[in-house]
Amino acid sequence: MRIIILSRRKLFLTFLFLFTVGGFFAISQRSMTTIPSLVKTPGTYYMVNTQQKVVALTFDDGPDPVDTPAILDILKAKEVRATFFVLGKAAQSNQYLLKRLAKEGHEIGNHGFSHDYQQRRLVEEMNQTNEVVFAATGNHTYFYRPPGGFVSKSQLEKTKSNGHVVALWSVDSKDWRNPGVKQIVNNVMKNVFPGSIILMHDGGYQRTQTVKSLGSIIDALKERGYRLATLSELRMLDSDTK
Ligand SMILES: [Zn+2]
Repeated sequence: MRIIILSRRKLFLTFLFLFTVGGFFAISQRSMTTIPSLVKTPGTYYMVNTQQKVVALTFDDGPDPVDTPAILDILKAKEVRATFFVLGKAAQSNQYLLKRLAKEGHEIGNHGFSHDYQQRRLVEEMNQTNEVVFAATGNHTYFYRPPGGFVSKSQLEKTKSNGHVVALWSVDSKDWRNPGVKQIVNNVMKNVFPGSIILMHDGGYQRTQTVKSLGSIIDALKERGYRLATLSELRMLDSDTK
């Protein structure tokens, strides 16, 4: 009897320990992926200095045969143009979606080919993806978004000399965490400001919550007087570059 009580207690303590460690791990993981400091990496494009109420919606990790068309339908109905950072691997098997993106006035950015966070083949992957986009649309990619937003100084230099601008974000919808539709809308509306770049996803995982939140986000932004633009359009408003 005594032995059972002890082992139960031990079991409880073990659980408590694992729970605490797990909690710390989750918190450290979270701060790793939130990347507030990374978006301010010098030499990257993550916002523009402007008084005008203009923002850019960006979608990563697509195109996806289910979620990208759903997102495109909403953007079309609301007359909004956005920027899509496509993965070469996904783009290759969904070239019709690249064509649709271009036809409907959206901008196509480069997210590498295989979503390798370390970007060991940075230039090769960027070129591979550019080739897929060019073959389908006749346009080259100009903005490059590193997987996870991670970029070292030397990677930044390599990207630049390969004719691309590193584009990060200033408002994270955190839709990648699937926190619920209401939370995604709040994450955007609580943090948005004139000239901000908003991060969302149209691929890589089921994006049902992103699709469901998009209409409300656009409506709420418009209600607050915001206009939505592509990354190239937004960049032209930068008071620093005039
Ligand atoms: Zn990504």
